[in-house]
Amino acid sequence: MRPAILFPLFKPVTALPGLGPRLGKLVEKLAGAHVVDLLWHLPCGVVDRRFSPKIAQAPHGRIATLTVRIDSHAPPVNPRHPYKIRCTDETGVLELVYFHIRGDWLSKQIPAGTTMVVSGKVEWFNDTAQITHPDAVVPVDSKEELELVEPVYPMTAGLPAKTLRKAVRAALGDVPKLDEWQDPAWLARRQWPTWAEALTRAHTPEDEGDLAATAPIRCRLAYDELLANQLALMLVRASQRRLSGRVTQGDGNLRRAALAALPFSLTGSQAASLEDIYADMAAERRMLRLLQGDVGSGKTVVALMAMLNAVEAGAQAALMAPTEILARQHAESLEPLCKAAGVEIGLLTGRDKGKARQAVLDRLASGELPLLVGTHALFQEDVAFKDLALAVIDEQHRFGVHQRLQLSAKGRAVDVLVMTATPIPRTLTLTAYGDMDVSRLTEKPAGRKPVQTVTIALDRLEEVVGGIQRKVAEGARVYWVCPLVDESEQSDLAAATERHAFLRASFGDRVGLVHGKMRGPDKDAVMAAFAAGSLDVLVATTVIEVGVNVPEATVMVIEHAERFGLAQLHQLRGRVGRGEKPSSCLLLFDSNLTETARARLKTLRDTEDGFVIAEEDLRLRGAGEVLGTRQSGLPGFRLADLAVHGDLLAVARDDARLVVERDPDLASPRGQALRTLLYLFERDAAAKTLRSG
Ligand code: ADP
Ligand code: MG
Repeated sequence: MRPAILFPLFKPVTALPGLGPRLGKLVEKLAGAHVVDLLWHLPCGVVDRRFSPKIAQAPHGRIATLTVRIDSHAPPVNPRHPYKIRCTDETGVLELVYFHIRGDWLSKQIPAGTTMVVSGKVEWFNDTAQITHPDAVVPVDSKEELELVEPVYPMTAGLPAKTLRKAVRAALGDVPKLDEWQDPAWLARRQWPTWAEALTRAHTPEDEGDLAATAPIRCRLAYDELLANQLALMLVRASQRRLSGRVTQGDGNLRRAALAALPFSLTGSQAASLEDIYADMAAERRMLRLLQGDVGSGKTVVALMAMLNAVEAGAQAALMAPTEILARQHAESLEPLCKAAGVEIGLLTGRDKGKARQAVLDRLASGELPLLVGTHALFQEDVAFKDLALAVIDEQHRFGVHQRLQLSAKGRAVDVLVMTATPIPRTLTLTAYGDMDVSRLTEKPAGRKPVQTVTIALDRLEEVVGGIQRKVAEGARVYWVCPLVDESEQSDLAAATERHAFLRASFGDRVGLVHGKMRGPDKDAVMAAFAAGSLDVLVATTVIEVGVNVPEATVMVIEHAERFGLAQLHQLRGRVGRGEKPSSCLLLFDSNLTETARARLKTLRDTEDGFVIAEEDLRLRGAGEVLGTRQSGLPGFRLADLAVHGDLLAVARDDARLVVERDPDLASPRGQALRTLLYLFERDAAAKTLRSG
């Protein structure tokens, strides 16, 4: 349970002064529902009001705080004109200017004849200094009330900045005194302040330097968050390890037969990954392993070998793909190898209904069917295995952690192998999959040809079409990927349909169209026609992105390449360069590109190494974008910015690992403080894996 000392921080934001239900909603949208969320809502700017010149010395356009006498009020003659208040000091005249304001209120707030301190941006018109809508006007004897250095927060429409500042200040007042959870030696070395001090200072910046992500106070806060993240992952993993696994170790018979049927030998990294996997499967504990390998690096064969290992041991194995097309393709490509090994492989997708489906289910339940490939349909309740020992999940980023657990719940102590073609940067692998062991396929299978990548402005479309016509005449098969228009599939579809019609004008009826809104069998029919060569050009929305294998396709055209993520472009490009012939990829871009977009396309042109591309993508776009926080089921970081604090993540991982090794129940004094840290960052689930203490 959340420790009582944190209760004040988990009150609703409406418990803070000035936040009623209406403004509370806005704050909730902006920062989050709880007081603690406001603490994580750090300023993005700072206004310095410490400059206090005489009127004559106040420069145009600068924020200043001036002490002035209020001489007279000049209400507007016409309501559209501003209300003006004339002020002076011994050097000149300053006018305070107000639009749409009640004069009687102003004359009470700023009575003539008094001395006031006013603060705001000074502007000169002819010989008069003006401040329009001053940020503050206070009587000279209560000048201490004035905040001379003011934090500026990311805002949302309708929420007054002052209200937010006041609420944050109150939230800071609720910060309890917590025991230090960081290692004292590490803190001393980095010269970081305590958490409470770091937080307070982060919200009361003195200058721009305090706002930098690299500032010590910000680093401290980021590190707290990273440590909570890593510690949570380690604890969950440790608790999973405590669950008993099963020993799965085949005699190698089936694997030998399948290997002998392969027209190639395994690459070094395929063999090495399999060593990892076999060792995991043979161990008492559960396997939770991520197989990372670029598009075309040959993950499927690795999956098959692992699955056959399970079958050799008398159990069953399942492979889950994110789409219907992929599931079918896997089933088809594995079929001959399974046949060679004398093992049957079944297919189960959402499209299978009625008797056929029931037959598969029956044979799964009886154990007659040892191997199954499928889609999400594998999760359905009536799908039961006799003895599922291994679940392989392809293209993980499409599935959430939750689904991963669902599938592994279909058997007794199921080993899980997750395969991803998204080469995630190392730093992100840690946050996203910190609970998994990782194997990487780093070599491309022998005989792969590089893909020649060129970038071309979209206004040269006619030339591109001409070039493609020549290629098609030479027998090339071409993917033509249409732009992402917006979030809605409708408009993506419209763009694809339009392009399909346009290309038909040049290529006749040997142009197919495939998109996400099509019914499954129709989609398959078009893909099959393209694979068989009865279509030369396949116009597609991004449904072809993942995994589709047509080795004869040698040209990839991507329209409005600047709208895609780098990883996605890399995936798409990976659809070509799979066969004997040299391949090319044409990235068509809009001519008014931003610098970043330009840099991203250049990266893609310069390298085919998915890991390099991923690192570059991270650098250019930031972590949230790269992973697509929602898709990956990742909690976004509030304080840490992995592009800046990436090195701290590795330290946090080592730190967390050491803690879990030495103090697995977090029972020591530091351990107790770390529990509080977990709750502070809402890693409650991880904290709950701990034995009480
Ligand atoms: P991905 O990692 O993208 O899933 P696949 O498993 O689909 O890649 O493999 C891509 C292609 O490479 C397939 O046609 C597969 O048969 C072939 N392949 C896999 N391993 C090797 C290898 N060691 N040598 C040569 N070709 C291989
Ligand atoms: Mg694949």
